[in-house]
Amino acid sequence: MTTTALLRKSDEVTDDSESLVDRIAALARSELTPIALEIDEGTVYPEQALRNLGDIGAWDAHTDLRDTIAGVSAIGETCGSTAFMAWCQNTLVWYILNSDNAALKAKYLSATADGKVLGGTGLSNPMKSFFGIEKLKLKGKRIDGGYIVRGALPWVSNLGADHLFGTIFEIEETGEKVMFIADCADENLALTPCKPFLAMDGTGTYAVQFRDVFIPDDRVLAAPAMPFVKKIRAGFILMQMGMALGLVRDCVAIMDSVKPSLAHVNRFLPQQPEDFAGLLAKMEAETMMLAATPYETGNDYWRAVVDLRLRAGDAAVAAAHAAMLHCGARGYLKSHRAQRRLREAYFVAIVTPATKQLRKMLADNAREQQGDSAN
Ligand SMILES: Cc1cc2nc3c(=O)[nH]c(=O)nc-3n(C[C@H](O)[C@H](O)[C@H](O)COP(=O)(O)OP(=O)(O)OC[C@H]3O[C@@H](n4cnc5c(N)ncnc54)[C@H](O)[C@@H]3O)c2cc1C
Repeated sequence: MTTTALLRKSDEVTDDSESLVDRIAALARSELTPIALEIDEGTVYPEQALRNLGDIGAWDAHTDLRDTIAGVSAIGETCGSTAFMAWCQNTLVWYILNSDNAALKAKYLSATADGKVLGGTGLSNPMKSFFGIEKLKLKGKRIDGGYIVRGALPWVSNLGADHLFGTIFEIEETGEKVMFIADCADENLALTPCKPFLAMDGTGTYAVQFRDVFIPDDRVLAAPAMPFVKKIRAGFILMQMGMALGLVRDCVAIMDSVKPSLAHVNRFLPQQPEDFAGLLAKMEAETMMLAATPYETGNDYWRAVVDLRLRAGDAAVAAAHAAMLHCGARGYLKSHRAQRRLREAYFVAIVTPATKQLRKMLADNAREQQGDSAN
């Protein structure tokens, strides 16, 4: 079943969003399918396709996050790496859209939403630090008109010489966190290519070093950052669902595609495409329900978002594993996309918030809630 067909099952999705998803899916098929292998191998960063997706409104749908997620999922059906870059771009726009800094919005919102300016997010380290997994890597101090920031982030994706990304530093004296936009064109900011990965090499992923980089006030997303992080965190996680939904949908298609020749033996496998199609429909409905209210503040809502994201990582790996077993030797060929989908699926499960972090978040949250009710 195609993205659009599945989305049409949702009674809340409007005609406009259908046509946006249709346009994104068509562009993904025409521009990404032919280069998906090269993106996977890391020989192509699909800059032009990302800009063209911007032209048709793929990064501009944040008034209703359900459209944004459906768009990422349509891309993910074709190419997991580009779905991740779509998430990076959308997340950058999401930060800017939600900022109260009018000067920043005036300067960057339409440029990023149109795809004229590309970029991403360096929030893995801050997100891990907020949940007690590692220390915050960027430090800053206040000076006239802005801040001076130093430190390094090991991996930030969808970057290039003139790209932007949102991240967070800590003011050393006070411990206050500030969320801001970094500009890769800054001469004091250095991008170093990463060692080859298992997949995702075409995603423009670099280690980023800040050598006393000046961040002017019109690039501050939020100070203090923590209330802002609470505001954007559900949207941040829910948009990642697009990566998982698109990938699982393609794994169902892969399993279906080998039915004519292999159904007589594949029917002995424990997990069938129909099982994953059912799981996909359920996860999609949950995603769309939760994404309708991304600013909800209740703890039950937050737990539901985290729990769904956890199951999405598991489902992506399980569906890609099943697709490999259904394909057999033909999926073991480097030229077949089943093995690419398996490698991409592991990324869904390890990108922040990774499976282990999500489990820690749920465990910590349950403990906190118990503490609250005991007091
Ligand atoms: C392809 C790719 C793209 C990514 N893109 C982004 C992005 O756009 N933005 C973003 O914020 N994050 C990005 N990340 C980081 C990602 O989201 C995770 O945070 C990261 O994979 C680490 O998570 P973890 O669960 O393994 O962390 P943990 O298991 O908790 O370990 C992380 C820590 O282990 C150490 N470590 C890990 N690997 C190495 C190594 N090879 N050598 C030395 N030390 C190491 C480091 O200290 C690191 O902080 C990307 C990662 C990958 C692989």
